[in-house]
Amino acid sequence: MEIKKMFIDGEQTEGTSGKLIKVINPTNGEVFAEVHESSIEDVRKAISAAKKSFYETREWRDMDSQQRGDILLKIADLIADNAAELAKIEAMDNGKPLREAEGDIDDGVHAFRYYASLIKVPYGGVYDVNSNFGKMHSYTVHEPVGVCAQITPWNYPFLMAIWKLAPALAAGNSIIFKPSSSTMLSTIMLFDIFEKAGLPKGCVNLVMGPGSTLGEELAASEDVDMITFTGSTEVGQKIMRLAAGNVKKIGLELGGKSPNVIFADADIDGAVEWAMIGIFFNQGEVCSAGSRIIIEESIKEEFVKKLAAKANAMTLGNPLDNPDMGPLVSKSHMERVLKYIEIGKKEGATLICGGERYTEGECAKGYFVRPTIFDDCTKDMTIVKEEIFGPVVTIQTFTSEQEAINMANDTIYGLAGAVFTLDIARAIRVIKEIRAGITWINCYNPTFNEAPWGGYKMSGIGRELGIHGLEEYQEVKQININLTPGVLGWYAN
Ligand code: NAD
Repeated sequence: MEIKKMFIDGEQTEGTSGKLIKVINPTNGEVFAEVHESSIEDVRKAISAAKKSFYETREWRDMDSQQRGDILLKIADLIADNAAELAKIEAMDNGKPLREAEGDIDDGVHAFRYYASLIKVPYGGVYDVNSNFGKMHSYTVHEPVGVCAQITPWNYPFLMAIWKLAPALAAGNSIIFKPSSSTMLSTIMLFDIFEKAGLPKGCVNLVMGPGSTLGEELAASEDVDMITFTGSTEVGQKIMRLAAGNVKKIGLELGGKSPNVIFADADIDGAVEWAMIGIFFNQGEVCSAGSRIIIEESIKEEFVKKLAAKANAMTLGNPLDNPDMGPLVSKSHMERVLKYIEIGKKEGATLICGGERYTEGECAKGYFVRPTIFDDCTKDMTIVKEEIFGPVVTIQTFTSEQEAINMANDTIYGLAGAVFTLDIARAIRVIKEIRAGITWINCYNPTFNEAPWGGYKMSGIGRELGIHGLEEYQEVKQININLTPGVLGWYAN
């Protein structure tokens, strides 16, 4: 078995820890790859390499946007050329069905193409200013932030990496990247592509290993100018505290417990299908998952019956065979999800379907959990309040529009939300009231490279994707020019 390496200062290296991380296939629990674990010393080397690349050699930062864009396009082409292999690795490593992994890789290709174009668009502003000191001309330019550390979770390993790397590179930054230790393989392949595409030495570095040591080193380092993180709110809070040392710029994409509000006048069959996409896509391991269905009481029975019939009919199996759902990412995560299911039962929610591990046939050794629906849920239940991050959905009912809005917003999170109704005025009224960064009307989950992604409240700070995603990785500089140079005569002598 080939042992995968980290990438520091333009070279693949085994690093200095002497330790290996085992990569486990969640479909059968078997080790199918190994990766060299980075040490703190390796992380420090990666930070120095990024620092040197940004502040001394400056090759990437100073490259004009045409040339930089060309390299980003080459990266996009290489991802497209390797799409089939990348999708297979992603499905095996994470457990997501192959067709979903293929979609992630395709989105990645387009994200690099999008940012390659965006950096060539005219940027900055010219301001008509008034001054007591004579005629002035004021304008702004956007510059890269500098040395950026980026940390990602395991649920969308490739896509979360792309959402961070493509805009940060487009802006001209130098980067140290750390993926989740559960899912490193597609990121390692992406760094192979970076090497082939000819990114200058030191401007991208890949370290791998535990967040509690390596991630904290990145968050605390005074040589890092910015840290962006996607993961749990708890770790996001730690990163904020650590980043305070040198007042780093931060971007946080955190957890969610998003409401999916369904009114009685909705197209019910359509709402059922979108609700399934909302909670069972990617095995429910989606930050924006519609994990709280909030439905008008008069249609609840019909809706739950239809949803349960479809959930019970879902296929679970090897991700490479394109089932409806694959396994959860790891044994420990499966146990966490099953624990929440037990809590739901104990707290009095009605289990409608699922609620257990799935062990039929070839799934016996894998980490599969059946799609699970809990009815009769109330706002104080743990399963309604906490992010489960698995294929588990709760059902609550309302009788008035205001009650639906109150329920939707009754959460510490504010990542996403949806409204289903055919009354357009109501749809707009309700979506406006939902305190969340990503919202949908009569659909759930479609995500676009062009549109900003991020949360309100404890779901994070900042936005990824779109123009906002590029601006996160830029500083804005104000430049003021005196149009009448010479003596001002402000002081008497
Ligand atoms: P996690 O917070 O446990 O880990 C995420 C990353 O942080 C990993 O790379 C991990 O190694 C690292 N890490 C762990 N402890 C750290 C520390 N003390 N300091 C620095 N880094 C540390 O999250 P996870 O279990 O990998 O992913 C699931 C979470 O991610 C869920 O809460 C989900 O909602 C969230 N998520 C959010 C978005 C979004 O866009 N808002 C997208 C995907 C996932």
